[in-house]
Amino acid sequence: SCAAAAAASLPLLASGALTDDVAPLMVFDKNAHFCLNLMKPICADEAEVVTLRHNDLEALEDLCKTRPRVAYVADGVYSTGGQAPVRELLQLQDKYGLFLFFDEAHGFSTLGRHGRGLVLEEMGAINDRTLIVTSLNKGFGASGGAIFLGPRHNHQRHNLATRFGGPITWSQRINTAGLGAIIASAAIHRSDALPQLQNRLQDNVRYFDELIESDSRGDGLPIRFISIGSEDNTIFFAKSLLEQGFYTSPIFFPVIAKGRAGLRIMIRANLRQEDIRRFATSLNQLKADHE
Ligand SMILES: *Cc1c(COP(=O)(O)O)cnc(C)c1O
Repeated sequence: SCAAAAAASLPLLASGALTDDVAPLMVFDKNAHFCLNLMKPICADEAEVVTLRHNDLEALEDLCKTRPRVAYVADGVYSTGGQAPVRELLQLQDKYGLFLFFDEAHGFSTLGRHGRGLVLEEMGAINDRTLIVTSLNKGFGASGGAIFLGPRHNHQRHNLATRFGGPITWSQRINTAGLGAIIASAAIHRSDALPQLQNRLQDNVRYFDELIESDSRGDGLPIRFISIGSEDNTIFFAKSLLEQGFYTSPIFFPVIAKGRAGLRIMIRANLRQEDIRRFATSLNQLKADHE
């Protein structure tokens, strides 16, 4: 899984094994996924750990200026909506040698050529100062996860990950049916079916945005976060929508700050427009009733 991939690779990064044997300052984005955040104490055994406000490039650059080695830990596409400023982060990498660690669980499959995700689409190819973990359980429709490492020293990093990467050295395994699903899913990713699915998804995202207001309207990503505020109202909204046949994901503390609860909505390629329209009517009615 992506969570196991993060547990395998973040301690290696904190140990300095990927940054010339100097433990880097580990900088986490405040909104990084739970499976990254929960590794902070383990990383802190090896390196200093700090957390920055969401997408705070200025603060990150200040740290790059004063510290010899900095590693930034972020989601490519955030599970609570929005994305990392990938281009600007790559500029910081060029300028200061910043190490970038991305979780692409939501960018994979949905975005980029062969579904390679937001970050690799921007980078072209992985480099030695970047590590990407991803899930095959989300857009990929299979099971398991993956780690992308740069090519350095003839797969020296690959050996490092498989020998010392925590869960990878245990009996973590993918069941046989899951392996079959991964192989079949990979074939779809290489075929013409993938761009068709990505286009259908983009059509649905655009249609959703026409009907429903959200902070991330127009960003082309498959995740929408509908701000509601109160935890009780959020649960009420989710329950009412479920009664009308729509599953949404209500999220609140500790995933996000107290009093900032809302509904997370994951748009799919195979939603029918009439379902999106019906959903919009229900949601907009609920919102109007609670204003
Ligand atoms: C779901 C999710 C994960 C965990 O993926 P698993 O493969 O289920 O472990 C990691 N990161 C993000 C951003 C996610 O949304």
